Amino acid sequence: MILEPTRAAALARLDAFSPRMGRRYAAERNHDHGSAGAWPANVSMLSPYLRHRLIDEQEVLARALDKHGPDAAEKFVSEVLWRGYFRGWLEQRPAVWDRYLAERDAALAAVEANGGLARDYRAAIEGRTGIDCFDAWADELTAHNWLHNHARMWFASIWIFTLRLPWVLGADFFLRHLLDGDAASNTLSWRWVAGLHTRGKAYAARADNIARYTGGRFNPKGLVEEVEPLTEDEEAPLIRFTPPPRPEPAGEWSLLLHEGDLAIGHSLATPPSAIVALVPREERVAPAVAAFRRGAVEDAATRAGASYGCPVHRVEDAATLGDIRAGRLVAAYVPLGNAPALPQVDTFVRDYDAAVWPLATAGFFKVKAGAPAKSRALGLPL
Ligand SMILES: Cc1cc2nc3c(=O)[nH]c(=O)nc-3n(C[C@H](O)[C@H](O)[C@H](O)COP(=O)(O)OP(=O)(O)OC[C@H]3O[C@@H](n4cnc5c(N)ncnc54)[C@H](O)[C@@H]3O)c2cc1C
Repeated sequence: MILEPTRAAALARLDAFSPRMGRRYAAERNHDHGSAGAWPANVSMLSPYLRHRLIDEQEVLARALDKHGPDAAEKFVSEVLWRGYFRGWLEQRPAVWDRYLAERDAALAAVEANGGLARDYRAAIEGRTGIDCFDAWADELTAHNWLHNHARMWFASIWIFTLRLPWVLGADFFLRHLLDGDAASNTLSWRWVAGLHTRGKAYAARADNIARYTGGRFNPKGLVEEVEPLTEDEEAPLIRFTPPPRPEPAGEWSLLLHEGDLAIGHSLATPPSAIVALVPREERVAPAVAAFRRGAVEDAATRAGASYGCPVHRVEDAATLGDIRAGRLVAAYVPLGNAPALPQVDTFVRDYDAAVWPLATAGFFKVKAGAPAKSRALGLPL
């Protein structure tokens, strides 16, 4: 894989892609040329960096707006806002994540117990279904830990409606293999394709659309194009997101870095006296994803130690955080599902998240319409 898990690499990619964030992006973003592990020309591939906050949404939005202005950058800005929309939506409906985990575990147990399901599931994840595009995307995902957005949509739709496999198994396959695997964007995008996010509206992968946007590389046969949205009985309750009060430690404190947010800035009045880096021990994800995550944490820890001129402690097990004697532990808010929960740590919410997430109570429109005013009031770009 070409992606280095460093902030320097994220900034280099931002520089390289920023000339294309304007009208060109809007015109070309839907085409999937099949990157085969190389940088795509028409999309940024910044998502693995955004996922870990080696770079943040504000920096990316500022660059797009600065280079192209609000009209030409409108599509790119909107896509970046989708990320915050999904995150805010999941933070305010945590039951959806809990239900996903429970259904995933039940589906994995069913694979163990049911020979027919096991055969179909393995054929799908090993790229042996006989559907040309689907098999190629399964291979691309496992070999390069990446898929273009359009390929993700087509893949999920074929998984659910043509292969009739449980959507939670497909979401799990993505989350284990994608370098940008994000609990909110992934779970809610799969639910959107299935017709569970926007109720009654599912996404159909169509052979002619696939042929067109892949430049004729694929010509799939036998896709189910008349799709019946999935349904579920219960609607998850909305728990409105209110940022907790900012921690104000009186004495020494340590900045805890976790894989859910590796930006090294903080919003406290005094600098930290130590850095504590929580090194991920993710056993479920593919080796390349685990290596990217560990590298990203190491990069942030090294930069933070140098920037604050303080010692860095590395910890592998969140349960042992209490053993570190470095004052109070303070961390950026832990996004649900993107890092272990840290009940013993004080957290602060970044201004961008505090501005965008509470808007995500229903559809995307409220975020798109409300985010600019909210963020300008905070002095953020948009
Ligand atoms: C089934 C499915 C699963 C997905 N799983 C993930 C996931 O685990 N992690 C993830 O980050 N994205 C996920 N996405 C959203 C989207 O596919 C990726 O964010 C995008 O392809 C990343 O590529 P890029 O950085 O080149 O995006 P660009 O087109 O360059 O867009 C810039 C940034 O905007 C954000 N963005 C763009 N499109 C979307 C979108 N549709 N939804 C949310 N944010 C978006 C990303 O942060 C991205 O880096 C999924 C989409 C689908 C349909």
